[in-house]
This record gives sequence, structure tokens and C-alpha cells, in this order.
Amino acid sequence: MSHTRTRRASRHIPDAIKRQLRQEAGFGCLFCGAIICTYEHILDFAQSRAHDPDKMGYICHQCHGKVTRKYWSKAAVEAAKEDPYCKRLGFAHEFVFSPDTGKTVKMGSVTMDGVQNQLVIFDEPVISIACQPEDGLILLNVRLHDEKGQLFLEIVDNEWRIRPSSWDVECVGGRVALQRKSGDKPLIISSRDDGVLEFQNMDFKHRGVRITADRAGMQAHFPNRPPITIHGAHLADAISGIVIG
Ligand SMILES: [Zn+2]
Repeated sequence: MSHTRTRRASRHIPDAIKRQLRQEAGFGCLFCGAIICTYEHILDFAQSRAHDPDKMGYICHQCHGKVTRKYWSKAAVEAAKEDPYCKRLGFAHEFVFSPDTGKTVKMGSVTMDGVQNQLVIFDEPVISIACQPEDGLILLNVRLHDEKGQLFLEIVDNEWRIRPSSWDVECVGGRVALQRKSGDKPLIISSRDDGVLEFQNMDFKHRGVRITADRAGMQAHFPNRPPITIHGAHLADAISGIVIG
């Protein structure tokens, strides 16, 4: 028997639709590129039937307010969906963590306290956290490349720049989970309540050296010499932590 009564869509949006909306937007707000976003019905406020991705968008709270309060025209909303900000700019961007995050950094089973350059490869800091002496603010800088040498994550003085070329980037519960390809374990960067910045499932390549790190340890894989493995190290109060080269 068919129902003639119009039903509202359930509040639950299927994961596949959420991912489609993130990918379509380039992993940031359709309008401004912020990376902490929600899934909104921007062309179908009544949400009368199923969640239709053609009428939805990945959008930050600030921009959502402008749409629902009608500061943005319907045509402008449609244009943003057709030509998302992040894809035009080349990356999504936002200051994600609070500036007190990162006094302690965990990478796999390696913990560092008061270290300025956590990971240095061939004299280049790949992950570094500088504490500004004038105000104590912590500035996180990260540059991670994939196996083809493409930059897939860049953090410049705390501002995250996420490339739309990834398969998925999800920001939930104080974590950023970045999956370069479907089926890959996501690189997770998270801020814990105690101010610890944690990197999980690291796997990237820098100038020919592949770095992997998980709870079992950190490994550096070289093209023509045996790998180096570091298990459960605790490093403190140094300019540089792990130096490879
Ligand atoms: Zn926005």
C-alpha cells in the first residue's frame, strides 16, 4: 500500500551522502572554505522528502546563517554549489585548534614535550611547533607530501590548508581525519583535552623517505638502506626531535 502523506526526511543523513557533499565542496565550506562544517539543506529548506544531495551543501555555521536569513540569494547559493570556494582556491582553510594545543605532541608511540621541530628530514622541518616568546602562542607548521610528491596537507602558522585532491577529509569531535585514497587508513590529527596534539596512522613521503607511524612505533623507509624504527621514545626540551637525513 502506498502512502500519500508527505513524510519529512529523518534527521540522519547517510554517510555516503555526507562524503559526497564533502568531496563536492573540496572539504571546506562552499562559500568561505572553513573546514568545520555541517550538512545543510540550502536549496530545500522544507526538507520534505529524502536528503537530496543536489539540494544540500557542506557549509559552515556562519555561512549557513547568511543563507537561512536570506542575505544570500538563491542564485548565489546555486553558483557556490556549482563552483565551490575550495576548488577555486585550491584548498580548504581554517584555524582549527586553539593556540594552546601542542605543548606535547604524540606521533605514533613517540611523545615530545617542549620540542620545537618534531620531525626534520634532510634539514627541512616537516612538523614543527614554535612557541612565540612574546605571547606564548603555539604556531603549528606541517607539510606532508604523498608518494608522488604532491602536497596533501599544509598547516601554516596554525592555518590548515587541505587540498581537494584527497578522497575524504572529515572533521568531527576535535579530530581531522584525512584519507588520501579510498580504503586507506585515515591520517588522524586530534587535539586532546589535555592540550596534547596527536598524529595517528602517519604515512607520507618526503624527498624519497617514507615515514610511517602508528602505536607500534615510527619507521623511516629509505630507497637504498634499511629502515629506521623508533619505539616508544619520549623526547623533551630540544630544538629538534626526530632528525632524518
Ligand atoms: Zn562558510
